[in-house]
Amino acid sequence: MFCPRCGREDEELYKGICRSCFVKEAQLIKIPHNIEITICAHCNSLLKGIKWEDSELSEEELVKRAVKENIEKFSHVNNLDLSVQILTVKGTNFECIIYANGNVIGTNISEDHRINVKIKRGMCPDCSRYASGYFESVIQIRADKRFPSSKELQTIDNIIRTKTRTLSVKNRMAYISNVAIIKEGVDYYIGSYKAAKKLSSSIKDSMGGIIQESPRLVGRDKFRGKDLYRIWISIRLPNFQQGDFIKYEDHIGQVKGFDGKKIILKDIISDNIWSIMWKEYNRIKVIARNSDIKITSIISKSPKIIQILHPETYQPIDIEVNDKISDLEIGNEIKILEIEGVPYILGKL
Ligand SMILES: [Zn+2]
Ligand SMILES: [Zn+2]
Repeated sequence: MFCPRCGREDEELYKGICRSCFVKEAQLIKIPHNIEITICAHCNSLLKGIKWEDSELSEEELVKRAVKENIEKFSHVNNLDLSVQILTVKGTNFECIIYANGNVIGTNISEDHRINVKIKRGMCPDCSRYASGYFESVIQIRADKRFPSSKELQTIDNIIRTKTRTLSVKNRMAYISNVAIIKEGVDYYIGSYKAAKKLSSSIKDSMGGIIQESPRLVGRDKFRGKDLYRIWISIRLPNFQQGDFIKYEDHIGQVKGFDGKKIILKDIISDNIWSIMWKEYNRIKVIARNSDIKITSIISKSPKIIQILHPETYQPIDIEVNDKISDLEIGNEIKILEIEGVPYILGKL
């Protein structure tokens, strides 16, 4: 065969020319001289087509990645090896060089290419929502028949801020857009409903109470043809604290503690421990506070009756002996609680 480039004869031809002419003219890669990438000025997420993509890469790494993505390798190249270096940075212009090594029909060749990458700064939808005070959900901190105590509010604020920080690593919409103190309690405006839901269940886990969600229609997303809702999540803290006395059905008990699911009680008569689910909250009545407990002493005892002094009137009162108080003796100081005129001995002081 005859090479039309160099005139050599008896050569195997590649795309119509001889091997050495082919290698001489071969290129490893093709790349544009200029490319542009758009990244969010706030969070560095990258615009890909019409979608924003989360990224934890630095600007330099994003530039190098963009260069690599714009490289086109020719099909006759084997074992291609690329390295990208940034030569100069002027403002948002990154001048880069690409070193390429590869093999073309048995011959190793190398080449370098210059490329200019321009970074355009934009704002991704999440960041622009944040900037505009956008929120999907409001967590309302309330307490039943009272204003939440400052201690409760402090604990809750801590939970919300710490947890928001953790959630924001994966969810950029996990931010507090506003906090408003109103006469019933405190409102936290949260960017993401999902985050707000997690926040409120953390609050309930440590503070107890009742959670209620109410969606409100706030408009319509014309682009997607969907109604837009905001969700108000109200957390109602209970009207009792640890140590207070509550009545549920026929039981009266002292609150020993609570978690996100239930309230733990100690029965005032039997001392048995039992629990009530929070969803029963509306059927619970607070009947005495921990501060209503009084101290008195036993003045006489028979097998069936224990006599004590009323802590305020100092009149003797008879109380029937039961298993819980049968060990008490004359002279013992005891804690008593009067409920609806009936004295209950809680135990020895
Ligand atoms: Zn040739
Ligand atoms: Zn952003």
